[in-house]
Amino acid sequence: TLASSIWFRKRSAANYRNVRNRISELLANLQESLAGIRVITAFHRQSASVDTHRNFVNAHRDANLDASRANAIYAPGSEAIGIATQAVLLGFGGAMVASGRITVGELAAYLLFLTAFFAPIQALVQLYNSYQQGGAAIHKLRDLFATQPSISQRPNAKHLDPITGEIVFEDIAFTYPSHPAQLNTSDYIAPTHPVLNDINLRIHAGERLAVMGPTGAGKTTLARLLTRTYDPDSGRVLIDGIDIANVTLESLRSQIAVVPQEPFLFAGTLRQNLAFAVPEIDDAVLMASLDALGIADLVATLGGLDAVVHERGATLSAGERQLLALARAFVAQRRLLVLDEATSNLDPASEAAIDQATEIALAGHTSVMIAHRLATAQRADRIAILETGSIVEIGTPIELASLNGRYARMLANTSSGTSPATSP
Ligand code: ADP
Repeated sequence: TLASSIWFRKRSAANYRNVRNRISELLANLQESLAGIRVITAFHRQSASVDTHRNFVNAHRDANLDASRANAIYAPGSEAIGIATQAVLLGFGGAMVASGRITVGELAAYLLFLTAFFAPIQALVQLYNSYQQGGAAIHKLRDLFATQPSISQRPNAKHLDPITGEIVFEDIAFTYPSHPAQLNTSDYIAPTHPVLNDINLRIHAGERLAVMGPTGAGKTTLARLLTRTYDPDSGRVLIDGIDIANVTLESLRSQIAVVPQEPFLFAGTLRQNLAFAVPEIDDAVLMASLDALGIADLVATLGGLDAVVHERGATLSAGERQLLALARAFVAQRRLLVLDEATSNLDPASEAAIDQATEIALAGHTSVMIAHRLATAQRADRIAILETGSIVEIGTPIELASLNGRYARMLANTSSGTSPATSP
């Protein structure tokens, strides 16, 4: 029994851990398939997705079968050992009774004691199985709880008082931390050059800075350092002269509004989505803000503040989602705005509505906007052009246009005459 317990301990711990891992893979795949269901159907990959999912289900089933198999050997096995011992003793005891060395009563008593001895062992076997199962689950939970967030608040973090909004990036270098899972794979190649390097940039309070540059240049990363989604490897990000690594996350983030490239809307009502950052706002104030932003009509068309928004705003058009995300940032009335302009091509009317709302939302605020359209960049006070993690050009639109550099080339490449800045 002891030997089989040791065998079972090793085998079941691995099995149950395997079951837990398969469950998490299965759920992750299910979640991903549901979220990506439109892409899957659009590419007509339903059957491939079903196959992939079936593989995960099969792996989960096999893991469960393995665990059950070990259990099926262990529990009845230890019971069989108990019964076999009884049979052997009955044989020997019977012979001893026949030869008159012990009485029948003594043999019966002995066998009863033996049964009493094996019953708790049997119970322990059952318990041990449950213990192993629970142990695997706890192991998984412990891994989860031990995961360090990429950012943590320093113990002596101070409250960041209401800011005027001057931002300084000082000698910034940054490389994304590699994922622990990647470190274990042999084909993982460590990044050779930093994502951001030698960034020195001062954005004045109330200024509007557009950040342009090719895909992968590090524009989004720069914005992430400002909201302190990551800390730079070296250098500092200062707001009003204060290193943002030294302030509380709450006091920092409650002064910044972010409009992401892919506007995320939550399942709920329009009111819940628009007043997301300021849930206590009353309807009249909310409507006044929406009116100021020029989207009161849109909200009315969608069915008013109580209109239901489906998960991720799946039933709204891209333009509507962007306007609502912009409104969410505007309603929050934050000093600092970080916008990642959507790359999706919109019809001219939606584009005009978004441009107009953006102008209103940004007026009087410090803002950093990742601009994909030249027209957006041209409305900024200054433009910074980022290339492979460094600022290669910076200045007002007019300065850059006369510089005969990258920006000037971008201007020349857009068909002349379509945008005001390209005409002489
Ligand atoms: P841009 O916004 O200019 O297109 P990003 O700042 O998103 O560029 O990305 C800069 C580089 O960092 C890219 O090479 C990208 O692959 C990499 N990168 C972006 N996000 C992550 C991340 N979370 N983990 C690791 N690398 C990332």
